Amino acid sequence: MKIHSSEFYTSSAKVSECPDKDLPEFAFIGRSNVGKSSLINSLCNKKSMAKTSSKPGKTLLINHFIIKLFSALLLIDIRLKPQKIDLEFMEHINKLFVPFILIFTKCDKLKTSEISEKIEEYSEEIKKNWEIIPQIIISSAKNKIGLDEILKFIDKCKQEFKSN
Ligand code: GDP
Repeated sequence: MKIHSSEFYTSSAKVSECPDKDLPEFAFIGRSNVGKSSLINSLCNKKSMAKTSSKPGKTLLINHFIIKLFSALLLIDIRLKPQKIDLEFMEHINKLFVPFILIFTKCDKLKTSEISEKIEEYSEEIKKNWEIIPQIIISSAKNKIGLDEILKFIDKCKQEFKSN
């Protein structure tokens, strides 16, 4: 799948202001500065549709509109140790029956062996509470790595959405 056109639609400060379109929704979730905007721009082949920043920002709406979500993509900075907040978040969306995958970002910053070590470390942490490790995608918005896999995941979800 390729994204042929994309445009910014709207920003919503409140859940009640979120657009109520009957389309599948995909949430790119992750801590501040993990690379959400960069990945969205890279997937859409746009330089600055989503605003990137080198300073951590504040976006705290996720918990409210997740219940309407079709699927979630949880972004994790590959360089960090497993974060409690991310692990708790996985538990949270699992309780809401929202399917999700893990996207490790900024993989251009590590060597292949270091990436494997980090994934192993994360998987061990996840295995403490989960029987199945969610699908993992290694990505770099900068070097355009993992984008096809992400788009394939989105496409697969869209097909399932259509057939339900
Ligand atoms: P957000 O707060 O999650 O939306 O994160 P941003 O997309 O604004 O990115 C935060 C910072 O990380 C910016 O300085 C980006 O240039 C940098 N960044 C994002 N993705 C990548 C990547 O794939 N590789 C590298 N090296 N830096 C990245």
